[in-house]
Amino acid sequence: MTVRAFYSALGVGLPAWSTREAPARCFARPDAHNHGDRSPSCSVNLASGAWNCHGCGARGGAYDAALALGRSPRSAMDLLVAHSLAEPQAPRHRTPNRTPGREARIGFQQTGLRASGRTARCR
Ligand SMILES: [Zn+2]
Repeated sequence: MTVRAFYSALGVGLPAWSTREAPARCFARPDAHNHGDRSPSCSVNLASGAWNCHGCGARGGAYDAALALGRSPRSAMDLLVAHSLAEPQAPRHRTPNRTPGREARIGFQQTGLRASGRTARCR
C-alpha cells in the first residue's frame, strides 16, 4: 500500500484493517477540534491519497497532507515521487528497458511467434 507508506512516513498511522478509507486524526487543523481530534474525524482514501476532514472541513490530496504536516513543497514532492504517488516533474534520464522502441520490438516478436503457431496448428 503506497498511500499507507506515504502517510506513515509523515507520521500519520493508518489502521491496518482499513481497505478503502482509513480514519486518521485531523492533521490539517488539529486545533479546530476538541482534544486535538482524539476521535479521528479525518478520512484518507487509500487508493488516491486524498483526504478530507468531516470535523473541520479541511481536505486535499497527498501533497496537501505533506504540506499540512510541515513538509516543504520540495520535500513533499520528493516524498510523493518516492512512494510512486507522482511522476518526477523533470525526468533527467529514461530507464533503458522502458523506452517505447524496445517495447515495440518485443511486442512484434511475440506477435510473430503467435502467428506462426496458429499457422502450424491449421495445417
Ligand atoms: Zn479537521
